Amino acid sequence: MIYIIGFVLAIVLVAIYARPDMRACRWRADRSRDAEGQSYWRCAACGAERFTEGDPPDLCLKP
Ligand SMILES: [Zn+2]
Repeated sequence: MIYIIGFVLAIVLVAIYARPDMRACRWRADRSRDAEGQSYWRCAACGAERFTEGDPPDLCLKP
């Protein structure tokens, strides 16, 4: 019985950790701030800024 409780608890914890706020991150490109072949991205959700090779970052950089 204690097994089941622990198992359910583990699933809940994993579910919480597996989806932090990174899914809420909405990266917007700003071509006017591109530099040296790097694309400028700004997260509309948390305000994080990042340069990448072209694709939007796949993580949230919450300050
Ligand atoms: Zn973000």
